[in-house]
Amino acid sequence: MGSQTKYLLDESRIPKRWYNIQADLPRPMAPVLHPGTMQPVGPDDLAPLFPMELIMQEVTTEREVEIPEPVRDIYRLWRPSPLFRAHRLEKALGTPAKIFYKYEGVSPAGSHKPNTAVAQAFYNREAGIKRLATETGAGQWGSSLAYAGALFGIDVTVFQVRVSYDQKPYRRALMESYGARCLPSPSTETEYGRAVLEKRPDHPGSLGIAISEAVEVAVKRDDTKYALGSVLNHVLLHQTIVGLEAMEQMKMADTWPDVIVGCTGGGSNFAGIAFPFIGEGLRGGAKPRVVAVEPAACPSLTRGRFAYDFGDTAHMTPLTKMHTLGSTFTPPGFHAGGLRYHGMAPLVSHLLDLGLIDAVAYQQVECFDAGIQFARTEGILPAPEANHAVKGAIEEALRCKREGRSETILFNLCGHGHFDMAAYMSYSAGELTNQSYSEEELAMALAGLPSVPETS
Ligand SMILES: *Cc1c(COP(=O)(O)O)cnc(C)c1O
Repeated sequence: MGSQTKYLLDESRIPKRWYNIQADLPRPMAPVLHPGTMQPVGPDDLAPLFPMELIMQEVTTEREVEIPEPVRDIYRLWRPSPLFRAHRLEKALGTPAKIFYKYEGVSPAGSHKPNTAVAQAFYNREAGIKRLATETGAGQWGSSLAYAGALFGIDVTVFQVRVSYDQKPYRRALMESYGARCLPSPSTETEYGRAVLEKRPDHPGSLGIAISEAVEVAVKRDDTKYALGSVLNHVLLHQTIVGLEAMEQMKMADTWPDVIVGCTGGGSNFAGIAFPFIGEGLRGGAKPRVVAVEPAACPSLTRGRFAYDFGDTAHMTPLTKMHTLGSTFTPPGFHAGGLRYHGMAPLVSHLLDLGLIDAVAYQQVECFDAGIQFARTEGILPAPEANHAVKGAIEEALRCKREGRSETILFNLCGHGHFDMAAYMSYSAGELTNQSYSEEELAMALAGLPSVPETS
């Protein structure tokens, strides 16, 4: 028992319902506002972008949402994902803590992203949609939606942030193998992309710009909708399958997490592992400490403002209240491309505001150090994004060592790094640096936040 390493669940134990934390919030979230009227948006305002079923999932306060059988059937290809106990890492750290990780790298795209990509493609297909437009940073989301599009016969166009497009040609090859079209963003394909390139032809791109391009394409064509890989409530909802499975597996391991750690780009893999546990705490159960780990070069939770902002740079999206660095902020080109977003999921932001989670930021090099230590002990080479979660878990384990406490730590190993070898080559060559953002640019981006009348 004590030496078991791998906790597997039978296929029949794939959850039948996702968990919606909106049902258990002590205070409801701030409404999403229409930027023209400053009034709360209704379902019809979002209809050009998303199928109605996803819009309803965005706003529902039902505690559980049924997972459609065709989606569960596809989940069977890689779910339930394994939970591991990191015995060798524990030993290397000399910690009395027990470290567990849920491994989402077993999916076809190599990360947690297909958990929502498959669900979103399903609901779009049900609504008769033929084409989806989306953005991608590192290429994880683009390849996940490309895969899901192939399963449901939907054409997928992906705007990939240019620095990642250049750094990661194999991610693009994967998207194209699944049949998607992949363009570097800013691109000449959209009005907004052309406007950005005119001002700065060598623009490295950002998720905010790529989102604007994808939204522009979706708004202009009736047969096309938009899909987002993180941030939105329905995306976080779909990812809760990770935490729901982990709950069953922690029971098998005969323990329960005192600490839960996840990395945060837009917040979805973090929410996926943490929300089911936080929800149980809100309903009177155990309350684990929950730590969100973000990059110091794009620190929305630790340095951003909790304010209404646009989700994109061209200001085509509604206004949501979230931790933001400002929608015009361009994060520096560090390697964890999936964490280069100016905002944070409104639900994750709300939980931080309620004091239900903690947030920390780490530098690029120390995160790669952690990822390498993980690879040398546990064998899996994490994605650069996941290195942040590994770093966070190691810091917790070292704290346990200092305090002589044998706590149980659970973290989300949200993806493998097999498409990120260029980053690891820079690391081995000693060329990786800690990126810092420009304080002036951040101040400017924050000064440009939209002004919204106080609602409550
Ligand atoms: C996309 C991605 C992230 C960041 O997105 P979240 O919504 O914050 O999860 C983190 N890790 C990996 C491996 C990713 O692909």
